[in-house]
Amino acid sequence: MSVKMLIDGEWTESSDGETFNSINPATGELLATIPEATDSDVDSAVRAAAVAFESPAWASMLPAERGRLLWRIADLIEENAEELARLETEDQGQPLGISRAISIPNAIEHFRYYAGWATKIHGTTVPLSMPGVDYRNRREPLGVCGLITPWNFPFMIASWKLAPALVTGNTVVLKPPEQASLSTLRLADLCVEAGVPKGVVNVVTGGPSVGRAITRHPLVAKISFTGSTEVGREIASEAGKRLARVSLELGGKAPSIVTPEVDIDSILEGNLMGGLLNCGQVCAAYTRFYVDRKRADEFAEKMAVVASSMQLGNGLDPETHLGPLVSQEHLERVDNYVKLGKDEGASLITGGSRPDDERLANGFFYKPTVFTGVNDSMTIAREEIFGPVLSVIPYDDPEELANRANDTEYGLAAVIWSRDIATANRLANQIKAGTVWINLPPFLDAAAPWGGMKASGIGREMGWEAILSYTDIKGIWTSLL
Ligand code: NAD
Repeated sequence: MSVKMLIDGEWTESSDGETFNSINPATGELLATIPEATDSDVDSAVRAAAVAFESPAWASMLPAERGRLLWRIADLIEENAEELARLETEDQGQPLGISRAISIPNAIEHFRYYAGWATKIHGTTVPLSMPGVDYRNRREPLGVCGLITPWNFPFMIASWKLAPALVTGNTVVLKPPEQASLSTLRLADLCVEAGVPKGVVNVVTGGPSVGRAITRHPLVAKISFTGSTEVGREIASEAGKRLARVSLELGGKAPSIVTPEVDIDSILEGNLMGGLLNCGQVCAAYTRFYVDRKRADEFAEKMAVVASSMQLGNGLDPETHLGPLVSQEHLERVDNYVKLGKDEGASLITGGSRPDDERLANGFFYKPTVFTGVNDSMTIAREEIFGPVLSVIPYDDPEELANRANDTEYGLAAVIWSRDIATANRLANQIKAGTVWINLPPFLDAAAPWGGMKASGIGREMGWEAILSYTDIKGIWTSLL
C-alpha cells in the first residue's frame, strides 16, 4: 500500500519523492510506503494552515457550526470504527480488543466532548477599581498549531490534540509517529469528508527531522507534543527561542503503592492491566510496585502466574492478550533494560526473553516480565522502559512510601491501593504526579485534565484546561466617558 500526506487539501507525495516503510510489528512484513516530508513540504503545510487560519470559511465559522463539524467527525469515526481499529492494530500492534474498546471510542468521545464546548468558550467581564472604564476579555485562537504524536496510541493521542485545537479555531499541521502513521492519515481523510475547510488540517509524515521542521517554523504559534522526555526538552528549548507556546506530555514511571492491609488477590487484575496494557507501552503504565516486604514475594509470584499465562500473538487474533512491541529497535531497548535488571541484582521470576514460538518469530514479541527484590536505585526502577517489565520493590515502613514514590524525575501518574480512605487520600496529596488513581486501573476521560508534573511535562490536555492551552486571552478596555 502506498499512501500520501495531506497538504492544503491535496493528497501529495514528498517533494523529493523520498519514502519510508511502515512495518507490521506482529509479522515484520511491509505494511505501507509513506512519504518522508522535506522541510519544504513542512513549509507548504504551515503556510497553507496560516492562510486557512485567516480564511472566512474557518475564521468566521459560527460556534454552533464548529460544534456540528466536530460532531460530524466523531460520527464518521464511529461509522468507520471497525476499519480504524484494525488499521491501528496492524500498524501499532495493540490487540484488537484494545483498539476497539479504548483507542477508537476514546477518540470519538474527545470529538464529542469538545463539540459540546464550541458554544461555551467565553471570556468574562471584570469590575475594575477605576471610574468610567469597562473591561471584558475574550479567548482567541493562537494560529497554526504543530501537533506531534507518539506511536503507542497514535489515533487516540492525535484526537486529544486535534479536537481542542479545532474547536478553538486554530489550524493544524499534524505529524504522526513514523512507526504508525496510517490511522492518523485516515483521521485526516475523515476530517475532509466531514467538511473541514481546505488547509485547516494538514498531515506531514516522516521522522524526527519533520518534527524539527515544524518546531522551528516561525509561523507555528504552538507546539503540542506527546513523546519522550528527551525530545520534549529539545522541543521546549527550540520553542523557547522564539517564544512559541508549548504543551508537553512526556514520559512516566508510575508507582503502584500497595498499603499493608490490602487483599492482594483483589488488586492483581488492576495492577496487571496498569502494567501490561498495550504491552506496557503506556506513559502511565504501573511499573514500580511498592509492596510490604512481608508480602512482596507473594504479590510478585501471583503477578508472575497471571502474566506468564497471557497469550502473546498477532493483535488481530481474538485469543491474543499481549501484542508485539512496536519495532525491532524498541524490542532491543526493552531487552537491554531486562539485562541491566539482572546485572544489577534484581530477581527475575518470569519472562525476560522473546517467546520461544515459531509463529511469533518474525514479530517483535517479548514475554511479560516480573522482577522482585528491586531497589530504588536500580536502573529498571528509575528509567522509563515502556515495555512489559514489572518491578516489585519491598518496603518496611509505610511512612517512607510518599518520599520513595516521589524519588523520580517523572511525575505523570501514580496509583494507590488501599482499604483505608484516610491513608489513601493522605498519600494522594503527598504524591507529586498529575494524576493519582485510588484503587483503579489507569483510566482517562475527555473531561479530566491529563498531564504531568516535573519531567513528565508542561500543561494539560483534556477538559477545559485544553481549551485554555489552545487560546490566548485578550482584555478589551473601554472608556465609558
Ligand atoms: P519520541 O519522543 O521518540 O517521538 C515522539 C514524536 O516526536 C514522533 O512523532 C517523533 O517522530 C517526533 N520526534 C522525534 N524527535 C523529534 C525532534 N527532535 N523534534 C520534533 N519531533 C521529534 O517518543 P515515542 O518513542 O514515539 O513515544 C514514547 C514516549 O512517549 C514515551 O516516553 C511515553 O511516555 C511518551 N508518551 C507520553 C504520553 C503522555 O500523555 N504523557 C502519552 C503517550 C506517550
